Amino acid sequence: MELSENKEIIVSEPETPAPGRFPSKLFVETTTRCNLRCRMCVKQSRENGITDGDISGETFEALKPEFPHLEALMLNGIGEPLLHPELEYFIAAAKKDLPDTAWVGFQSNGRLLDAARSACMIIRSAATAI
Ligand code: SF4
Repeated sequence: MELSENKEIIVSEPETPAPGRFPSKLFVETTTRCNLRCRMCVKQSRENGITDGDISGETFEALKPEFPHLEALMLNGIGEPLLHPELEYFIAAAKKDLPDTAWVGFQSNGRLLDAARSACMIIRSAATAI
């Protein structure tokens, strides 16, 4: 916004970046299951309509063409990602295809993040954000 000599207010539209061919961030709901029952969680409302289930390996594989174009891959939605038995594999597989500057991570309630699993995440899977 700027004022011209006759005090007219000129409002310029912010520049909107052109949409890319691929998304820069991808959220993948690895599971809708959870080991907690938090009262404020949408999953606990009676009308939520969310059934329990895990993403299949085939569905995850189908997302791979997107990975080389991402800035970030988040492996969670509503549910506890550590309940998915293939989570470490998903992270390791994604890291192979993501750009070096991209990161992969997930949000967790932390209840299942024991020492062994933490070490596996850090050493084998190389998750960059938990
Ligand atoms: S840990 Fe998260 S997903 Fe699980 S019940 Fe609590 S808020 Fe919901």
